[in-house]
Amino acid sequence: MARKPARQDVEIDVVDWLRRLPKVELHLHLEGTIQPETLLELSRRHDAEPLTPEAAKKLYVYENFLGFMDSFKAVSARLKGPDDYELITYNMIRDLAAQGVVHAEVYISFGIIYYWKNAEVEPYTEAIERGRVRGEKDFGTTVYWLIDAVRHFGAEEAAKVFRKAAELRAVYPSIVGIGIGGDEARGGADLFRESYAEAKAAGLRLTAHAGETMGPESIWAAINIGAERVGHALSAQHDVELLEVLAQKQVPLELNVTSNIRTGCCKSLDDHPVKQYFESGLMITINSDDPPMFGSNLLEEYVLVQERFEFSLEQMRELAANSVEASFLPPERKLELLRRVEQYGW
Ligand SMILES: [Zn+2]
Repeated sequence: MARKPARQDVEIDVVDWLRRLPKVELHLHLEGTIQPETLLELSRRHDAEPLTPEAAKKLYVYENFLGFMDSFKAVSARLKGPDDYELITYNMIRDLAAQGVVHAEVYISFGIIYYWKNAEVEPYTEAIERGRVRGEKDFGTTVYWLIDAVRHFGAEEAAKVFRKAAELRAVYPSIVGIGIGGDEARGGADLFRESYAEAKAAGLRLTAHAGETMGPESIWAAINIGAERVGHALSAQHDVELLEVLAQKQVPLELNVTSNIRTGCCKSLDDHPVKQYFESGLMITINSDDPPMFGSNLLEEYVLVQERFEFSLEQMRELAANSVEASFLPPERKLELLRRVEQYGW
């Protein structure tokens, strides 16, 4: 990695500087954080014939979006009982801390537990919380949970997931919000207007994946049902009026550059609008989505954005501050983190 002059007189190691820059991750899926080494451990727990290290690594290799879905399923299929969730939560926090992530807001898909495991979510949530408490204590990175419903399972299922989130929030205050993911084409955001209103009334914060695989209309729909943050928002670039509204209202966008390339939602890095969004005054944040599935992590996303799109280090600091501001942390913690980001030196 090249050393670059940060100011006229100082040369610094950029990767190391970005690693130590206090960062917040806002778009990360718990089930998408399983590293090959953790997969091996899960396989030893559950497979009659455990995977070899080579076979485990192979599961992360795929060609296209469908291949990605198969990979994701093959890895999550080895998540069986609550203890497995405790393990991946703890390991996730360890990995985040190693990248200089001070706080993360992480999606948990209750759908995977309800439908793939046909189980109740309570014991899983309890185990995830055990992993979080241990991880926070050992590594210092704090975590909030966002409970994610699957768009194409329909409005009724989403309402069920969000009510469960509201119920569990009373027990676990680290559950702060909800979101929708899955197939945008088969589950327009309009369908979820009522459940979003209900979740909001229950004190939950609102996010939505939108404009990843569908056009700008999907992002309009997400903000029209009250989404406070938009995940991906890749197609906003095709709608000038939408860009103006997003800039004017400073709607935080959870961008995931490598994810968009690896899933084929964006053809190439040259086509990615991250720099265009930044220069248009949008409130963008950098995130990693399903990092081991995409061969990336948050630190590598920061490195990629800085190098490839020629963001200055001051601009990288601004991106880190954006993520603090766009988080659902209480004002006093935000202020403390913003101060740390501002005072972070060379
Ligand atoms: Zn996502």
